[in-house]
Amino acid sequence: ALLLDGKVAMISGAASARGIGLATARLFASHGATVAILDLDEGAAIEAAAAIGPQHRGYACNVADKDACLQATERAIADFGRIDVLINNAGITQPVKTLEIDPASWDRILDVNLRGVLYLSQAVIPHMQAQGSGSIACMSSVSAQRGGGILGGPHYSAAKAGVLGLAKAMAREFGPSNIRVNCVTPGLIQTDISAGKLSDQQKAEIAASIPLNRLGNAEEVAGAYLFLASNLSAYITGAVIDVNGGMLIH
Ligand code: NAD
Repeated sequence: ALLLDGKVAMISGAASARGIGLATARLFASHGATVAILDLDEGAAIEAAAAIGPQHRGYACNVADKDACLQATERAIADFGRIDVLINNAGITQPVKTLEIDPASWDRILDVNLRGVLYLSQAVIPHMQAQGSGSIACMSSVSAQRGGGILGGPHYSAAKAGVLGLAKAMAREFGPSNIRVNCVTPGLIQTDISAGKLSDQQKAEIAASIPLNRLGNAEEVAGAYLFLASNLSAYITGAVIDVNGGMLIH
């Protein structure tokens, strides 16, 4: 059966060709969802949506900009009438050490990864409340759990750990409205966020330290998002799903 038949799903940071967001949009569409792709560049978002099928839409949205989140949400509501699923996926990273984090970098990393989750959720939740249902999944990272993944700096760890707290608090607050809020915590997934930043030798060494002996791919994170978006997870809220090949077993 189609797991998202007739559902409307909004996914942030979903225009990047090899990214987790676009893989999620494709998987959701293959399960019957209509998708709203949000990304920084409107043209790229529209193109990504059109490549999946004519019923899907792309919208410009910088998730760190509250007005942009409200606008993109209003446009999606105007086009589709409802939003059943929100995937707070947009994120950026920066490989620096604690003593190198300057104020502007702290703000940039926290704004996109953490503030963006708040703003887009604030825009969409009133519509989910009016509908009486909704599922929100938020992108955290193994970096939040183990104090650094492989590429993200301490500000990235802090932002992604903040996402866990924010999502759990929203899960408590909106459970009575039948809105579920969960997180995924991927390990090292091969996308453009890390492209060119690790040598083949480094990748092989990392893979050897992971129980499943390989890095992950975008579709494997999309699968976890699909579970959380669908009614298969109807009694799951405030949860954190590791998608890391066993890199962190706790
Ligand atoms: P990616 O760079 O391919 O995708 C990130 C997307 O977010 C891009 O399309 C980018 O344009 C978009 N984006 C950036 N800033 C934005 C903003 N302000 N507003 C809206 N969109 C914005 O990388 P990815 O690996 O697919 O990353 C997706 C998410 O997964 C990120 O939150 C990232 O931190 C997280 N993550 C990735 C890994 C990994 O190993 N790849 C591991 C754990 C978590």
